[in-house]
Amino acid sequence: TPPDLIRNFCIIAHIDHGKSTLADRMLQITGVVEERAMRAQYLDRMDIERERGITIKSQAVRMPWASEDVTYCLNMIDTPGHVDFTYEVSRSLAACEGAVLLVDAAQGIEAQTLANLYLAMENDLTIIPVLNKIDLPAAQPEKYAAELAGLIGCDPSEVMRVSGKTGEGVEDLLNEIVAQLPAPTGNADAPARAMIFDSVYDTYRGVVTYVRVIDGQLSPREKIAMMSTKATHELLEIGVISPEPKPSRGLGVGEVGYLITGVKDVRQSRVGDTVTNSAKPAADALGGYRDPKPMVFSGLYPIDGSDYPILRDALDRLKLNDAALVYEPETSVALGFGFRVGFLGMLHLEIVRERLEREFNLDLISTLPNVVYEVEVDDGRVITVTNPSEFPEGKIAQITEPVVRATLLAPSEFVGAIMELCQSRRGSLRGMDYLSEDRVEMRYTLPLAEIVFDFFDALKSKTRGYASLDYEPDGEQTADLVKVDILLQGDTVDAFSSIVHRDKAYAYGTMMATKLKDLIPRQQFEVPIQAAIGARIIARENIRAIRKDVLAKCYGGDISRKRKLLEKQKEGKKRMKMVGSVEVPQEAFIAALSQD
Ligand code: GDP
Ligand code: MG
Repeated sequence: TPPDLIRNFCIIAHIDHGKSTLADRMLQITGVVEERAMRAQYLDRMDIERERGITIKSQAVRMPWASEDVTYCLNMIDTPGHVDFTYEVSRSLAACEGAVLLVDAAQGIEAQTLANLYLAMENDLTIIPVLNKIDLPAAQPEKYAAELAGLIGCDPSEVMRVSGKTGEGVEDLLNEIVAQLPAPTGNADAPARAMIFDSVYDTYRGVVTYVRVIDGQLSPREKIAMMSTKATHELLEIGVISPEPKPSRGLGVGEVGYLITGVKDVRQSRVGDTVTNSAKPAADALGGYRDPKPMVFSGLYPIDGSDYPILRDALDRLKLNDAALVYEPETSVALGFGFRVGFLGMLHLEIVRERLEREFNLDLISTLPNVVYEVEVDDGRVITVTNPSEFPEGKIAQITEPVVRATLLAPSEFVGAIMELCQSRRGSLRGMDYLSEDRVEMRYTLPLAEIVFDFFDALKSKTRGYASLDYEPDGEQTADLVKVDILLQGDTVDAFSSIVHRDKAYAYGTMMATKLKDLIPRQQFEVPIQAAIGARIIARENIRAIRKDVLAKCYGGDISRKRKLLEKQKEGKKRMKMVGSVEVPQEAFIAALSQD
């Protein structure tokens, strides 16, 4: 297709504002997906995506659209909708010339509306503002058209109105996409350059790489090179998705499609990298490539220790499909053999864990997640700590922790509650704007460790669900952090060590000591549970001693019953872990680690 007949766009929206539904309607109206084959959220292919109603991986689909007797080729690139995947979002945006900015006509602008709009503006995209769900009785199109127009600086009459559900206005929107978005430009005679905006592992075909061609041309059977690694591969297949993969004779300037080279690992085909022709390589890679950087680490252990080899193989398999996943073996006194795993964020952690449990039939326990700290010890060495066990003993010169720039949007009545919450999470207010009379945008700098685990739930409950949140990494800051250890009769239980702010050390220590007191059965001797910072004890509980005689429970002489009991006790022993001389059922550790 000649570039002037191509339009590349994405839909950006706050979660639940109807992006997937609108995409479905476009597929239907352009005839790409037949009525019969239509299922909701056609583009959300992964089970977890469909169940949770979120988009994790982006996909691209090509749609023909005739506008004023000319048939155009529209490439719709679906972007992931969660902060954990901001980098993937920014690469999908970089593959487009324009964005449909979709806002729920009954909700108005939310935090991710803004975050995505800013990403789109950074990528110089033409923005088409659209109100969705105008069929809803609660829709307030006048009010929110004004809000949206104010945000992007256009006239309220230029804000389009659609319903992804009924299809109303969607044809007009497709025509506007053709009319308003610029056609791609690029040099057809230059050496090939194509940007990778997604890469997915497929069991049968190996890695399928999604690209947008900027310059030149890619053709089947030629040798291509990845510019970040210089690795070369033969292009076994190249094609477009419409809505299923169709091989083509090549991709030219502005075109969007997929490549297959037979590689088996998405790490060999990384999002953000530039593909070129190895015989006639481009001089410079396209800008913006970045290695995925894990932000949150957690230990993952099989509940049944004999599942360890299955877990290892499962991680090796998942890694093929997930360039951001990193892990290394780890052992724990309490939990046995497992892995230290790095994730982009909590959603990424949950997805990986869910896939391991579901696709590989594993029962897993994860330790308290932590962010990455840089600890400078007295002699000037800097230690990167991804696990509390790596936290250095002795004198520490300084510790830095990652921080984020957070954007919170809420009705103005919640300003006080939000400030209180952010204060308790060590946040500092950076700015505040009223988007309209009753809606306020607040910007905070917050430690990642304070926002990543349960902040969103706390925010929702303090604002009755009316606040929305988005954040992005914003460097590091120094902080007064300590490692709190939990000791059973003087021995540290590694799985419970945690790095926390000094002001929160006592609260963490007491919480864990109290929890464990209730979970660990009495022993033949008294067992102290202590929380400590280094050698200093900050909290203590005791488990009182008992003489435990199971057989005493059996009155009478029923010998077979006694034998059964003894056997049961032996079984239980197998799952007992020894911490020093204290016997702890593994269930106690698991219960102490499970969040509730
Ligand atoms: P996404 O998270 O932005 O992809 O949103 P979805 O497309 O999954 O939609 C979120 C919810 O809003 C779903 O329950 C949809 O059925 C509903 N929805 C989406 N578009 C419309 C619309 O135009 N009208 C109405 N009434 N509901 C819609
Ligand atoms: Mg969706």
